[in-house]
Amino acid sequence: MSHILTINAGSSSLKYALYEAAAQPRVVARGKVGRIGGAARLQPEGGEDIGLPEGTDHGGALVAVLEALETSHPEARIEVVGHRIVHGGPDHAAPIVLTDTVLTELEGYCPYAPLHQPHNLAGVRAAMAAFPEARQVACFDTAFHRGHPFVNDTFALPRAYYEKGVRRYGFHGLSYDYIAGEIARRAPGLSRVVVAHLGNGASMCALRDGASVASTMGFSALDGLPMGTRSGQLDPGVVLYLMDQEGMSAEEISDLLYKESGLKGMSGISNDMRELEASDHPHAAEAIDYFTFRIRRELGALAAVLGGLDGVVFCGGIGENSAMIRGRVCDGMAWLGIALDTEANAANAPVISTGAVRVMVIPTDEEIVIARAALALS
Ligand code: ADP
Repeated sequence: MSHILTINAGSSSLKYALYEAAAQPRVVARGKVGRIGGAARLQPEGGEDIGLPEGTDHGGALVAVLEALETSHPEARIEVVGHRIVHGGPDHAAPIVLTDTVLTELEGYCPYAPLHQPHNLAGVRAAMAAFPEARQVACFDTAFHRGHPFVNDTFALPRAYYEKGVRRYGFHGLSYDYIAGEIARRAPGLSRVVVAHLGNGASMCALRDGASVASTMGFSALDGLPMGTRSGQLDPGVVLYLMDQEGMSAEEISDLLYKESGLKGMSGISNDMRELEASDHPHAAEAIDYFTFRIRRELGALAAVLGGLDGVVFCGGIGENSAMIRGRVCDGMAWLGIALDTEANAANAPVISTGAVRVMVIPTDEEIVIARAALALS
């Protein structure tokens, strides 16, 4: 039987999933390789961890995944490979078949997402080498947001920068695409919905009838909410100050904003919400306060963009599992029509509201969006 492999290659990890290529693709295996570049480990879901040679790169990681899949699923014939690609630039509003020409174009977007795009493309190259006969499909995190109205697509800079591609792209598009489909299935007719994707990376998206109209993320995946290690929204004057007064280079500022800020930087303890929730240190409490404060603020702003609110969806590791964060976000939001069912919230139930606004917890699934898109283009 024909199979689809999905690949989500990050800076130090490569997540994979194997699907049967049926009308409704069925997942038969999934897992990840962690700590690529260091003490890499293959972690198949439901299986034993396997240590890989020190310094294994993305190519080596993919070879290890394929060897493991050959052993566990010898019947698999991988004919299509779907890739998560963080940046599709201004023009890609849909998945696309990868060719050498497309790959060259996508390399041009590396300066827009220097910490993600090169790793995504390394995954593509590794897969092209491993499966020269397979069709390779790119699914972009930016594509779902390309229909934003101009006011949500631009910055107030001289026009030339917009033309050069300095725009508000928005990210987590594969997750929002999946959630939009689930909303249509579970609550048809729910029109004005704010989705909070709260994981290590975090953003929010305003959906009108299933289409994205605004996102908290902008030109880069730094904007909007504070995240595990990313600052979220920041006055650009802070960056100027860091350059002029602290003498920091672009690389040092990039490290600060992407890797040392957010929950980790504010708490000085961890980027991991579970650890912060368990800590009694006041800085952990302040980091959680700031996180929920910013989500509440964006919720109000996105409800204003939509002209009202019919639903809220929580997803991502924190959104799906932390009753405390959901409770804190929704507390005192009766003015917006939000009232939580405390027991349902504590149980991570699919619907956790009693008020006019339907509040839902929906586990997201970016891989199935990639698998469906890859299949549709094959
Ligand atoms: P990524 O963006 O890397 O895919 P995830 O969506 O897996 O991240 O989310 C990771 C975050 O979810 C971490 O901060 C983790 O602590 C948090 N998380 C997972 N389970 C829980 C839980 N039960 N309670 C609170 N936070 C949780």
